[in-house]
Amino acid sequence: MSDLSFEGRVALVTGAGGGLGREYGLLLAARGAHVVVNDLGGDVGGHGAGGGAAQRVVEEIRALGGSAVANTGSVASFDGAAAMVAQAVETFGRIDILINNAGILRDKAFHNMSASEIDVVLDVHLRGTFYVTRHAWPHMRAASYGRVVNTSSNSGLIGNFGQSNYGAAKMGIVGLTRVLAKEGARRGIHVNAVAPAARTRMTESVLSPQAAEALEPSRVAPVVAWLAHESCPATGEVISAGAGRVARYFVGLTPGFLSRDLTVEKVRDHWDEARDTGGFIVPDDPAEEMALLMKQWT
Ligand code: NAD
Repeated sequence: MSDLSFEGRVALVTGAGGGLGREYGLLLAARGAHVVVNDLGGDVGGHGAGGGAAQRVVEEIRALGGSAVANTGSVASFDGAAAMVAQAVETFGRIDILINNAGILRDKAFHNMSASEIDVVLDVHLRGTFYVTRHAWPHMRAASYGRVVNTSSNSGLIGNFGQSNYGAAKMGIVGLTRVLAKEGARRGIHVNAVAPAARTRMTESVLSPQAAEALEPSRVAPVVAWLAHESCPATGEVISAGAGRVARYFVGLTPGFLSRDLTVEKVRDHWDEARDTGGFIVPDDPAEEMALLMKQWT
């Protein structure tokens, strides 16, 4: 099998001034893509801006012979998102790949969380993913081609103490990914999400020495690059990537318990049966769930 090339493709990677995004930008550029390196350049909590992070990664890419330009706008601004997509199209003529990766943390136990700590995290992760994708979408539809890779997290998929703002945003991104996969299907646009695990400034303080060694961000980048490649057939999927392992998260539905004259006592008495994961299905769309339900009803 031949190596996977991104020759001639144009990619916008948000939050690519460091951590995972930088690895994505470096890998795509090394395989021939023109890359718009976006990064606002603030700290891990989303405070501040500037600092030249995006430009530094652009220089790294160019020093390796690649093609890249910097963008320092915020994904949390609808106009800023428009400008970064416009920059890709004006500089390189098109946008084939969007990797929504920018992110911040404002962890706090829910009972102590302020309105601004809720809003700013939802703004960067969830609204940011909406905004940049919303501006890239018409270009991808017109070209009948696109690859969007969003960023989720096990903090939302599973739940993690102190991350209600972040977890909710990351699970919202899964819903957006599922719906856009359906809306993009007829136009050749694939939309997937990655749930990464990597040693970055976001995680380094909570990792054991062994995990810190295993979780090289460069071991996530090949998974994201595969999801961004034209030959990857997946859409609407959530892929776990970390330490070199590639796996799939999915939403499963148990066969459950059905009674035409359901009472609260019957729910109690059949609770374990309802929740038993044996024989679960992974519905592709709501019609598949409805078909199963009607089969059980009759
Ligand atoms: P990171 O802090 O190194 O990278 C995030 C980047 O986003 C930073 O460079 C930051 O400047 C940029 N950014 C923040 N707000 C922005 C904005 N409004 N506009 C543009 N850029 C902005 O952390 P990372 O670990 O590389 O995180 C990358 C993504 O992966 C995030 O979405 C994060 O939530 C997600 N994630 C990471 C892990 C992990 O284990 N590292 C786990 C799950 C999810």
